[in-house]
Amino acid sequence: MRRGAQKERHYCERLFSANKKTTHENVHLTMKYCSQCGQPVEHKIPSGDNRPRHVCGHCQAIHYINPKIVAGTLPVYGDRILLCKRAIEPRLGFWTLPAGFMEMQETTSEAAMRETWEEAQARVDLDGLYTMISVPHIGQVHIFYLANVINGEFAAGEESLDVQLFSESDIPWDEIAFPTVKITLQQYFQDRKNNSFPVHVKDIHTGIPEG
Ligand SMILES: [Zn+2]
Repeated sequence: MRRGAQKERHYCERLFSANKKTTHENVHLTMKYCSQCGQPVEHKIPSGDNRPRHVCGHCQAIHYINPKIVAGTLPVYGDRILLCKRAIEPRLGFWTLPAGFMEMQETTSEAAMRETWEEAQARVDLDGLYTMISVPHIGQVHIFYLANVINGEFAAGEESLDVQLFSESDIPWDEIAFPTVKITLQQYFQDRKNNSFPVHVKDIHTGIPEG
């Protein structure tokens, strides 16, 4: 399996599981063994700290777990938007904007363009940051850039069953995979009425889009 596919799956499982009773606490209860020495870790508040961490009683290492950034694009071509139909569970068959976890050594814009290439086989020019949405209960921040699809060329990448351009009236609102994608699309069509696309910073606390 391609490394990108594995990464994407993890991202989606985290998002999907947020529909269940996922809390700040159990997001952090994911490490069992110390990555330094292999011994079991405890979950406790270290001396001088103010919240529980994974602490190794054997080598004393403290393992900090911090939020991850998911970067993607809202690819535009003419008056249409490029969406990808997911080829993998969960949310297989649902539509999404191309997005995924940043890699080390990447910038957010590089990550967004890479994901757009991997999932939609589309080269894009970025038009600037558009939405930045905190999803605290799963420890993620999702960033979407407005982007123009170069030459209108695209194809389904390995993680996509299909990739299509949609007019506003054809967006499959009931089949959008994730809430941050739905919010970003809704905001775009609202802003398009004014031909003004400022940056939107939002917080959400649910895992599955409404309706
Ligand atoms: Zn250890």
